[in-house]
Amino acid sequence: MFDWMIVGAGFAGSVLAERLASQRGDRVLVVDRRNHIGGNAFDRYNEHGLLVHQYGPHIFHTNSERIFDYLSQFTEWRAYEHRVLAQVDGMLVPIPINLDTVNKLYNLNLTSEELPAWFAERAEPVDIIKTSRDVVVSVVGVELYEKFFQGYTRKQWGLDPSELDKSITARVPIRTNRDDRYFTDSHQFMPRDGYTRMFEKMLDHPNIAVMTNTDYRTIRDLVPHRKLIYTGPIDEYFDHRYGKLPYRSLQFRHETLDVEQALPTGTINYPMTEDYTRVSEYKHMTGQIHPKTAVTYEYPSATGDPYYPILRPENAALYKQYEALATATPDVWFVGRLATYRYYNMDQVTGQALATFERIEASVPRLANGRSHAGVALPGTVASAA
Ligand code: FAD
Ligand code: UDP
Repeated sequence: MFDWMIVGAGFAGSVLAERLASQRGDRVLVVDRRNHIGGNAFDRYNEHGLLVHQYGPHIFHTNSERIFDYLSQFTEWRAYEHRVLAQVDGMLVPIPINLDTVNKLYNLNLTSEELPAWFAERAEPVDIIKTSRDVVVSVVGVELYEKFFQGYTRKQWGLDPSELDKSITARVPIRTNRDDRYFTDSHQFMPRDGYTRMFEKMLDHPNIAVMTNTDYRTIRDLVPHRKLIYTGPIDEYFDHRYGKLPYRSLQFRHETLDVEQALPTGTINYPMTEDYTRVSEYKHMTGQIHPKTAVTYEYPSATGDPYYPILRPENAALYKQYEALATATPDVWFVGRLATYRYYNMDQVTGQALATFERIEASVPRLANGRSHAGVALPGTVASAA
């Protein structure tokens, strides 16, 4: 008998498995229908020995000391600050838009003090900022919006920015200084030996069993367990009772190139041209030394594995219906990007899983104290926990 079945071996499932096993002595079975652990953060060495991220570039960044310290138990780190250039009007310029972006694009010599006024002359007043269009045009105006955000967003989401929640394009700030880092978090690192190695260490505990290539629906009635943690798509858990909750997918084109370095920065974005949104070169992130290099192109897609919740009012309303079902489902915890329909980064999912663990600690009595060495619960202890 397992105390917990955990569906999904990504950040949400693996953090919870680790906490439940190491802090409570609970017995945990983690299942994933993919053939590997790590969820979307999974990385692997390709046929040339280059470390690649199977589901596109994953860069770890956080402002939370607690989350960073927690993950540091399972990996050493390599300092890495991600930089991205966008190909616009035939030039490669920094994105997030900053002072150098404007000066290069318009052949100007503005200072940081002058740029706010330059933006203000072009900004379009918006009464209430609601959409992913509002959030950009209200700061920099229509022209820069169209060059950097409109095309990229239409490609990425299959929707116009005016149809998407403001939080999506608000992920990318507008700057007036020369900072060309993609993120400004206090902690920006890559796991030194890769994400998969970090997950292996997290799950390496005598109380944790892992089954890959296993859809939990095929074993949920066969493997006895007391409680469930579910990190897959929430609508799927409830058999799409209220209809499909939209998720956006991607197709990845992985290539190995016969050059030491292919790109000037870790990622190049294509907001105006190409079918793909961006291309990324892993050696910038991993620091790997190798005569060849590996890159990945991302092609947005309506079909395929679910990767992104699509944040817009009608989807939020549908999610609320599923969330109400989840709240009314005892003994099942819904955690992670797909199960809580949140556009969360890895650190946020880690934080959500750690917070869920605290809620479990507060509400589910520990089982292990009453367990014999053989792992069998003694009479009386199971009932209080089940
Ligand atoms: P997932 O990693 O999706 O794990 C869920 C797992 O559940 C999956 O492995 C799935 O196979 C499994 N599953 C689902 N249903 C079942 C079932 N029925 N039975 C068995 N298993 C099931 N975040 C960052 O912080 N920095 C980045 O640079 C970054 N880049 C990203 C780039 C891309 C292209 C994408 C798509 C995401 C990126 N992210 C990034 C976000 C990051 O991937 C997520 O925050 C994180 O991986 C989510 O973890 P999770 O455990 O919630 O979900
Ligand atoms: N975005 C854009 N142009 C860019 C970069 C981002 O329009 O050059 C918009 C786009 O809608 C994208 C969102 O901002 O989906 C968030 O970008 P981010 O780089 O955070 O996306 P992720 O890495 O999560 O795919």
